Amino acid sequence: MDDKIDISVVVPVYNEAPNLNALYQRIVATLDKLNRSFEIIAVDDGSTDGSLDFLRALQQRDPRLRVVRLARNFGQTPALYAGFAHVRGRMVVQLDADLQNPPEEMVKLIEKLEEGYDVVQGWREDRRDTLARRLPSRMLNRAISLLMGAKIRDLGCGLKAFRRDVVERMSGFTHHARYLPAEMLWLGVRMAEVKVEHRERAGGESKYGLFSLLRLNFDIISSISTAPIKIIGLVGGLLSLVGFFMGILIFVRRIIDVNYDPLAGSIASVTALFFILAGVQMIATGIMCEYIGRIFVEVQNKPYYIVKEVIEESPTSSGNLP
Ligand code: UDP
Ligand code: MG
Repeated sequence: MDDKIDISVVVPVYNEAPNLNALYQRIVATLDKLNRSFEIIAVDDGSTDGSLDFLRALQQRDPRLRVVRLARNFGQTPALYAGFAHVRGRMVVQLDADLQNPPEEMVKLIEKLEEGYDVVQGWREDRRDTLARRLPSRMLNRAISLLMGAKIRDLGCGLKAFRRDVVERMSGFTHHARYLPAEMLWLGVRMAEVKVEHRERAGGESKYGLFSLLRLNFDIISSISTAPIKIIGLVGGLLSLVGFFMGILIFVRRIIDVNYDPLAGSIASVTALFFILAGVQMIATGIMCEYIGRIFVEVQNKPYYIVKEVIEESPTSSGNLP
């Protein structure tokens, strides 16, 4: 039964009621034209705006739709993973619910994937988001490219296509701090990028503000790398070096310059040094605590998400596909 489905489309949904009807119509129209068998897996990530009721009603009419309902809002990545755990298709397409990535663009990714890639990543060349939304993304792209040694233009693009085995491998991970693009790079996949259209959000609003994005960026970087700890160590080392040379300088000047007022010079330099060192100490402690906090979350070993309900065609009525 598994091999009968060509394409599984996974859509994380968090308060996207105004967009769901158009989203559904356009996915179906696109894939019908492709003449492939498909299923749509909508993951309701604790929506409170009626998204779930709409999906439930839709599922009654179209058994190709399956709805995975999470117990509360877990976040976009856990929602995606919950969807991945339910896919049956040979290929898996990830799509945002807000129509920023036109569903019609899925075709380009599917065709590219069939050329023999493991992953095809959408690339929003002309991205229609605010600067506050784009800037943190650009920082993250740069940081990840640097850390993972891979040049990828738009890792955050919510339009991606995977071969089923890539999704299965990623689903097998058990750690909590996950960022899907980093996980897939870590697997060592053969990856292609495809230019895709990007639009303004059709309805509703972005779930990410500037502050939450900066926070997310730090979470992502510290979850894939210990670079922040190393950088702090480096800064600490450099500062002690500066302090050491300052000490030598003051010492030498005291010997050479007889009119030097030792008090004024010392108070100024000691105050400056105090602030710098206290700041570095605090940052260092903060970063260490972040990592300790992460270890704390991992040792608790809680599930990454909780599925409350899977709304799908009951086995007794199977075979009635429209
Ligand atoms: N999303 C989700 N859970 C969340 C936040 C977002 O499932 O906690 C979904 C959201 O419904 C959308 C996708 O993830 O389908 C991308 O979210 P959004 O459009 O807000 O992000 P942006 O386009 O600003 O990156
Ligand atoms: Mg969006």
